[in-house]
Amino acid sequence: MMPTKTKGALHRPPSTVHRRIVALAGGVGGAKLAYGLAQILAPEDLTVIVNTGDDFEHLGLYICPDLDTVCYTLAGLANPETGWGRVNETWNTISNIEKLGGPNWFRLGDQDIATHLERTRRLKGGQSLSQITKDFCKAWGIKHTVLPMTDSPVRTIVDTDEGELAFQEYFVHRRCEPRVKGFRLDGVQVAEPVIGAREAIESAEAIVICPSNPWVSVDPILRIIPLTPAPLPKGEGRRDKGKKVVAVSPIIGGKAVKGPAAKMYSELGIEPSALAVAEHYRGLLSGFVLDSIDAELSMKIAVKTLATDTLMKNLSDRARLATDVLHFIGSL
Ligand code: GDP
Repeated sequence: MMPTKTKGALHRPPSTVHRRIVALAGGVGGAKLAYGLAQILAPEDLTVIVNTGDDFEHLGLYICPDLDTVCYTLAGLANPETGWGRVNETWNTISNIEKLGGPNWFRLGDQDIATHLERTRRLKGGQSLSQITKDFCKAWGIKHTVLPMTDSPVRTIVDTDEGELAFQEYFVHRRCEPRVKGFRLDGVQVAEPVIGAREAIESAEAIVICPSNPWVSVDPILRIIPLTPAPLPKGEGRRDKGKKVVAVSPIIGGKAVKGPAAKMYSELGIEPSALAVAEHYRGLLSGFVLDSIDAELSMKIAVKTLATDTLMKNLSDRARLATDVLHFIGSL
């Protein structure tokens, strides 16, 4: 089939292409593009490194919201309505906890609880989060590599006008209502990148920063696994010389598709836009993908841009955007 040119992007039908890619992902937006990339790239060509700054302990369970969203999505087990949790879910456990007067603000479905129970059991037995994730991926039939950014506990803390809040307290319990003043990543000083992350990045042709929340999904990954190491002594150049880094904007027409990313930019005194996202990753990028409706911002962005439809409403949108991103990488 001949490729067709639509709004500046070449749309070819998805077929396996060989480009070795590392994708950095949070939950909802990250998982959708990771799914698209996984439709096109061979298992050995895609590693998804996932934010664990949102992880927390609740009801005695160790919960990894972004990691689970990415895995459920790649496995075809995700709930397409919510973007989180499992499809065909039942809620017996949480409603019985509620009847007993227990906390119900963090919705956990019965199938989902099985994931957290088994993960918690294994962690308590001394297994690492990355080993458990690898085993779960195998059990769910996920062929591509999914890595938590680190095996150490790190926690995003949101500084708000009501004081510091643990991330899920801010995000779910308080529905992102408090005004944001800044962010802190607890545990970052001692956290090491997960085994395999640096190697995957070194052998990759390009890093794709998925359309995830820059502040609370991508920044924690970049804190743990910096993509722009300090320049080496004169003459040696940068260690990551030649690595392409492409980000996809989670902000479309000044708004987030879902979640508080745009609200966070505003509260931090920055007008939310694809341009603000490009500025956020300034110095890191070789290319930037923004939505067609924001195409006129391209001229203000210092790196090469691709303006295309970046809203992933269905499964074919994910593969289409992933195809566009991969062709764009090829053009850099
Ligand atoms: P979270 O940790 O579950 O909030 O997930 P992410 O950080 O990965 O995703 C949240 C971001 O995804 C939000 O800023 C959304 O604007 C963005 N997002 C969600 N769906 C889409 C989409 O279809 N296209 C684009 N461009 N961004 C999206």
